[in-house]
Amino acid sequence: MSSQRLLIRNGFVVSMDPSVGDIARGEVLVEDGKIVDVGRDLGVSDAEQVDATGMIVMPGFVDTHRHTWQTPVRGVLPSCTLDHYFAVMLGQVGGFYRPEDVYVGNWAGSLEALNAGVTTLLDWSHISNTPDHSDAAIQGLKEAGIRAVYANGMPTGGEWWSFSELNHPDDIRRIRDTYFSSDDGLLTLAMAARQPGNSNFDVAKHDWALARELGIPISVHVGMRLHNLHYQPVKDMHDLDLMGPDICYIHMTDLTDQELDWIAETGGKASIAPYVEMLMGHGPPPIGKMLARGVRPSLSIDVVSSVPGEMFTQMRTALAYDRILEFTDTPDVAFAPTLTHTDVLEFATIDGARSIMLDHKVGSLTPGKQADIVLLQTDAINTAPVLDPKGTIVTFADTSNVDTVFVAGNAVKRGGELVGVDVKSVIRKLEESRNHILSQGGLLPDWCAEPAAV
Ligand SMILES: [Zn+2]
Repeated sequence: MSSQRLLIRNGFVVSMDPSVGDIARGEVLVEDGKIVDVGRDLGVSDAEQVDATGMIVMPGFVDTHRHTWQTPVRGVLPSCTLDHYFAVMLGQVGGFYRPEDVYVGNWAGSLEALNAGVTTLLDWSHISNTPDHSDAAIQGLKEAGIRAVYANGMPTGGEWWSFSELNHPDDIRRIRDTYFSSDDGLLTLAMAARQPGNSNFDVAKHDWALARELGIPISVHVGMRLHNLHYQPVKDMHDLDLMGPDICYIHMTDLTDQELDWIAETGGKASIAPYVEMLMGHGPPPIGKMLARGVRPSLSIDVVSSVPGEMFTQMRTALAYDRILEFTDTPDVAFAPTLTHTDVLEFATIDGARSIMLDHKVGSLTPGKQADIVLLQTDAINTAPVLDPKGTIVTFADTSNVDTVFVAGNAVKRGGELVGVDVKSVIRKLEESRNHILSQGGLLPDWCAEPAAV
């Protein structure tokens, strides 16, 4: 937390809070890591000034589901199916990870997120092969300075994924006591749970009871289609009386209407990863289906083995996909989509915060919330001129426009550069880790192992 007073001045404030609104030439006052005021001409003279001329001032993005540990094997499966992903990533690659590979993945992956303006991520960490692996995951998040929900998962390996008889590792109790005695820090704890079907029903009941005993939220993948598997995970959860408002459901791509109704009726939260769902064949992203049930979905990256690690791609993919679903059979009925750029920006910020139960802290520029703030440069060749700032963010901006990023008032990126990070050394560590992991599976191209040309 920073004890400085900061006044971010002269930017276009996109607050994502209806009671604050959008403010041209607005100001945001930050004190002790929190937003204390947002408005015009706040009359503050005793604060460090941050000039946001030519920039949008917005809340940091919230990624509600990312397997950050996979960062060292970025790109290993650029065009795979979900069946292939399970076989390679969970059945093979994950088993080659040393604790230091998990550390590098979470550290570098979190830096990647911060660089792209993602200030909060839920790290869905199913790489708990040993307690040392779990400790390394938490250490990586911590050192990067990101706000994260560490969602503790199970080890990799097929024995954990098909009607598994193995309970969620009890090590989560040690982790809670060691790292998460308070909810005040940048890191909080959740359970990365398996849907019924991935585990057997006794295990599901055990795991849910464990999360609730520990008082932590549950994040669970449901309804992603695999060849020849006929799951009904949400029906099973319903029948087992496991559903509730403490659950964020990921994908929901191959569920029945009844199952989607139950998610809405029980106050469930939603995380949709539209790019990967269409790429790998999880099923069609159920954005409109959730909205029709009154559930505002969030967006997530999922895997950087196949997906770029920023939210601009997710927002644009969600918007274009959902709109074309309104295409009609005949030109006699007008094309009348309802989803807009404002919706997907909400999904990527405030709805994300709600989905992982952090909206009391982040997701909008609201006085009293944490100062997780992004300055997006808009006087750039790909963004100028600006007419509708939300449209600029969703339609035109990319990571190159992310100029400055604050987490709890601390600058982690300034002037387009990560603060205090030697990016070349991060890349070297990623490459070393990649070579170790993939060489064991025969997945490393020969050229990667060769010394660089001088
Ligand atoms: Zn996932």
